[in-house]
Amino acid sequence: MIDYHMHLENGPLSLDWLEKFWFQAQACGLTEIGITEHSHQFKEFLPVYQHLLVDPRQNSVVLEWLDREFRYNLNQYLELLEAGRKMGIPVKFGLEIDYFPGTEKLISSLLEQYDFDFILGSVHFIDYWPFDFDPQLGWPERHVDDVYLSYLSLIEQLVQSGICDVLAHLDVVKVFGHRPQKNLEEEWRLLLQSIVQADIAIELSTAGWRKPVGEIYPGEPLLREAALLGIPITIASDAHFPGDVGYRWREAVCYARQVGYGQYCSFKGRKRFEHELPSF
Ligand SMILES: [Zn+2]
Ligand SMILES: [Zn+2]
Repeated sequence: MIDYHMHLENGPLSLDWLEKFWFQAQACGLTEIGITEHSHQFKEFLPVYQHLLVDPRQNSVVLEWLDREFRYNLNQYLELLEAGRKMGIPVKFGLEIDYFPGTEKLISSLLEQYDFDFILGSVHFIDYWPFDFDPQLGWPERHVDDVYLSYLSLIEQLVQSGICDVLAHLDVVKVFGHRPQKNLEEEWRLLLQSIVQADIAIELSTAGWRKPVGEIYPGEPLLREAALLGIPITIASDAHFPGDVGYRWREAVCYARQVGYGQYCSFKGRKRFEHELPSF
């Protein structure tokens, strides 16, 4: 069993720190990990985020946070993962990309230059606003239905862009527990159909269980529909500390089975492989 979403960002880019993630993975009974550092950790990706920094509406707290990012070169990161692999850690080379319309070419030309196993695509920003940053930031002055509709439109564009292999935390817009008044079943259904056509996977992320919403990503009606359509899944913790690696993965597997899944997938060199879900 594997965990295909975790971040080293709260520690140094060192073998010692990477090993801590692997030790925890083994303690949970996992056999492989995928490290998926945020693209905003890397200098090469600064042009992708430039518009956030120069937007006059940008909040100062967000600017302070972004000011601490873009710390490393992609080569430093990949060299560390390579060293980990040489030590015997079964690690896949991943990256979590933030999607912004208009940055597709920039992102694909960057990705072409490196050998990743898989790319996670995420939407954390609606225009200049990081909606998952703080429930007090941006949410009070917006209509929840509008936020959901903008989010769905961005995910749709991300799917069409072809830049990622897996969509991370598909319904993360619910992170703080905001729910739309409007029935968006049809919008979600159309999005799932686009995902089928694009032949990409979605992740089953237990991170939602640690967030205010207290619900796995994606929630039940959505994942049930995805299972019916045969959309492949990965299993992911989105751990930002070693202690969260493999977080509640057995429950995630049971949930996947309940909604109709019998398989999950892994990646190597951006090719997808299917595996039977373990049974306990
Ligand atoms: Zn994310
Ligand atoms: Zn993440």
